Amino acid sequence: MNAQRCLEILREIKDVAFATVDRDGLPQIRIIDVMIVEDEKLYFCTSRGKEFYRQLTENGQVAITGMTKNFQMVRLNGKAVRLTAHKEWIDRIFAENPSMNGVYPEESRYVLEAFCIDHGVVEFFDLSKEPIVRESFSLGNTKLREVGFHITDDCIKCGKCERCCPQKCIENFTINQKHCLHCGLCFEECPVKAIKRRGE
Ligand code: SF4
Ligand code: SF4
Repeated sequence: MNAQRCLEILREIKDVAFATVDRDGLPQIRIIDVMIVEDEKLYFCTSRGKEFYRQLTENGQVAITGMTKNFQMVRLNGKAVRLTAHKEWIDRIFAENPSMNGVYPEESRYVLEAFCIDHGVVEFFDLSKEPIVRESFSLGNTKLREVGFHITDDCIKCGKCERCCPQKCIENFTINQKHCLHCGLCFEECPVKAIKRRGE
């Protein structure tokens, strides 16, 4: 698994959820087609009249997620940038997604603007595996933020966390981050508060 493959999964799902933030700081979400994926970049479009377009041009922060029928989930948090070579990108998007001609026939397609996400963090989460598998990747050298939990030197090796972990991903008083749900049960159950959130 890598960042490119994660974006390809979003392209294969095609209709994925895009979340933005509006002028009042409230979350907004809708289904948008992933139009092109190449070179660790994701391309999509929307029309200039939509609130989605306004939110993208005023803020640009977008969170995207989709799940395959096999319970593989991809999540992307990044910054969407409007592409200046407007007509060329819309023509290319229509060439690669011919069904768009039925929605925006002929010249009406140019009310659409194309956007690209090439910076951000992408996360893969496979719920079909036992234990579950999760991995995070950087797009465009974006710094990955550590999330989840880790066991500190305050551990007295009582073994309670290993016994309560639903994914059995604690071994030798170390959390295997690749299989951790981030559920926090070990954090709650540790008798000496030796488990801390990562990155804090
Ligand atoms: S529950 Fe806390 S003290 Fe016990 S083994 Fe786990 S981290 Fe260590
Ligand atoms: S956060 Fe949940 S899944 Fe992860 S190690 Fe702790 S108990 Fe296990």
